[in-house]
Amino acid sequence: MIVRAGTFYDGTLDAPRRNVDVVVDDGRIAEVRNAADGGEPELRAACVTPGLVNAHVHLVGSGEANTMLAVATMSQNQLLLAAVANASKSLRAGVTAVRDLGSPLGIAPAVRDAIESGSVPGPRMRAAGRALCMTGGHGWFVGRQVDGPWDARKAIREELFAGADCIKVIATGGVLTKGAVPGNAQLLPEELEAAISEAHRHGLRVASHAIGTEGIKNALRAGIDSVEHGHMLDDEAIELFKARGTYLVPTLAAPSCILDHMHDGTQPQGVIEKASRVNEAMLRNIRRAYEAGVTIAGGSDAGTPYNDHGDYPYEIELMHRLLGMTPQQALHAATAVAAELLGTHRGVLAAGEPADLVLYDRDLSEDIRTMREPQAVIKAGTIVAR
Ligand SMILES: [Zn+2]
Repeated sequence: MIVRAGTFYDGTLDAPRRNVDVVVDDGRIAEVRNAADGGEPELRAACVTPGLVNAHVHLVGSGEANTMLAVATMSQNQLLLAAVANASKSLRAGVTAVRDLGSPLGIAPAVRDAIESGSVPGPRMRAAGRALCMTGGHGWFVGRQVDGPWDARKAIREELFAGADCIKVIATGGVLTKGAVPGNAQLLPEELEAAISEAHRHGLRVASHAIGTEGIKNALRAGIDSVEHGHMLDDEAIELFKARGTYLVPTLAAPSCILDHMHDGTQPQGVIEKASRVNEAMLRNIRRAYEAGVTIAGGSDAGTPYNDHGDYPYEIELMHRLLGMTPQQALHAATAVAAELLGTHRGVLAAGEPADLVLYDRDLSEDIRTMREPQAVIKAGTIVAR
């Protein structure tokens, strides 16, 4: 198959190329060459990018107004059906890889395996299984409650046994759990250290939910691989990110979607109040971290209120608007950088790489909203949406 691109973004920060053909063979890219070199294309598009990579999703969530209530009261069958539907929705929106950072009952690893075996459609996946939280802590409804370093090690072994290929820990309170305070630290430094060292021993990377300042720094000092949210980071945290090369996944869409719908009258008042405060901190701090050189990977926290699995392009728009990234820089964060964090593939379009492509009818640098409506999506050389 040959795909002809008017403008071609390979996922890196190199200048986009004009009028190229992407030659696909056996699910991989055989060659990227000038269109003038000949061959009849099967598909033509004004703009071609790599498949998008969403480093932070919850497939069991479908954007319900009250995530905690919805997930805590759904049956295992309902959760599984939702996760399968959301995986398919992601893929059709151009997302060809996701990292699920919290699902109960082994749902996300099961969906990952079903996608890999070809029995259901969906993106390439990393799956954390249950998130490690303190007893009664943030995220308990998608969590394994742990207390103490040995219990944290045991929980890692349980998740590994249950099929997790990455780990999520909860270092602070959060917005969606009733009673949890986003600014407060939750798992203790010694619990985080035990969990991270046990996970690393088995080759699993660890992501930490962390909104409050102290918890962000606890996670960074304990050797975390990525900080999720990070909204109340300070200068010391910025230095720790840079010194350790830790990724920041700012999930800009999460508070934004809650506040975009704050007048719908369907969300718990406590969630709206917490999201407002977190949003203020996010607007103050994340751009500063980006400008100081912290590595930003794209991830939207899809599944949280009004944050649809098909809306990942909104996160990319927010990285452009709120962080001052160019559209190409935002695309880079949502492809190559996020893929590097997942470790599934490189997230770039070059010979030998998986043929995961998204086709658009306009150049995204002219209008980034173009990404909301892809013309076609290709995963591993197969057209999966048109
Ligand atoms: Zn999350």
